[in-house]
Amino acid sequence: MPLAAYPANRLGRVTETTPSATDPRAALRLRPEIAALPAYRQGKAAAADAFKLSSNENPFDPLPGVVDAVAAATQFNRYPDATALALRTELAARHGVSPDEVHIGSGSVALLAQLVLATSGPGTEVVYSWRSFEAYPSLVTVSGAASVRVPNTPEHGHDLPAIAAAIGDATSLVIICSPNNPTGTVVGADEFEAFMATVPSEVIVVLDEAYAEFVSAGSAAEPAAVNGLPRGAAPLTARHPNLVILRTFSKAYGLAGLRVGFAIGAEAILDAARSTAIPLSVTAQGETAALASLAAEKQLLERVRTIAARRDALHDALTAQGWALPRSFANFLWLPLGDDTAAVAERLNAAGLVVRAFAPEGIRISIGEEESVPRLLSALQQIIDELAPGHPVRRLA
Ligand SMILES: *Cc1c(COP(=O)(O)O)cnc(C)c1O
Repeated sequence: MPLAAYPANRLGRVTETTPSATDPRAALRLRPEIAALPAYRQGKAAAADAFKLSSNENPFDPLPGVVDAVAAATQFNRYPDATALALRTELAARHGVSPDEVHIGSGSVALLAQLVLATSGPGTEVVYSWRSFEAYPSLVTVSGAASVRVPNTPEHGHDLPAIAAAIGDATSLVIICSPNNPTGTVVGADEFEAFMATVPSEVIVVLDEAYAEFVSAGSAAEPAAVNGLPRGAAPLTARHPNLVILRTFSKAYGLAGLRVGFAIGAEAILDAARSTAIPLSVTAQGETAALASLAAEKQLLERVRTIAARRDALHDALTAQGWALPRSFANFLWLPLGDDTAAVAERLNAAGLVVRAFAPEGIRISIGEEESVPRLLSALQQIIDELAPGHPVRRLA
């Protein structure tokens, strides 16, 4: 989604302006903030032999067992189970909560949209770190609320004290993203606890953990990263009733095309989200695939470890080339290229490496197929050799 209309990396209350007079949408009776959004356009198609490293997808093909389970779910003349009870029951048992404290959505973005709609509207403010997930600004705009963006720290992570300070009477929702998309940084467990202690209990906080499975799969985070759903212990929502944890089957579990995510939190919050949901949007195939993936979790988490090891090896190789990049705990790396973002993305694209450019801040490169690694290393070696010696993305020698 293009976000050119948004000023980058500074704290500000962002509301959309009206479309220009030459825009055909100006002649229609549309909500002005919607008419002013940049229209979605498909990016250029990648060359046939290019690696698609732009959407943080899982590069492994689906497991045969998961494919078989989905292929067997043939009763699609019937509506799906509206509340995905079987999947909720399984997730509830795993995380030690009741099935009503679990809510399934067609991707965790759908759940986020529901939570934004349930909490926020004209006159209210949603607070989040920036740069972060590109879906946040548009979901907030669609609700009619304003975005309050708190700039990332110089180390590309969340500035939790500044986020806490930005919360006020108008705040309707706070979103914390760990690992942060697109920078890969994590929020520390202790700093998260200290932050939650300052948030008024009536303000809902969403902890978006779309990449949680990749955190413990590679290099250890120092200090320990926050984990909303620790194994063998109660979810953080037990201690913080105003907290909602979001997880997805799209990334570690490789089900991006089937659209399944889940939320864990207090029944009252999830009931409010359910009230805003488009009914029946989680398909039986999606629910079936998620259940089959949980049953095959051991194999899938082995793949996650492979991806995390590939990420850490790529990080180390790039550091050796001279790149200054933050340690990532997700399935992508972040190159803070600043004003050179667009030009470098163009170069990578020409080399058959489709990456995501967030100009003027940086480039996000998903960890993809093993064969993409040598191509990336050779292209990035050439690029860094051409960057000026004093360029901020070069590691100080
Ligand atoms: C990918 C992603 C999601 C989830 O995507 P869905 O496919 O809708 O589940 C949520 N948050 C972040 C930060 C993501 O990067």
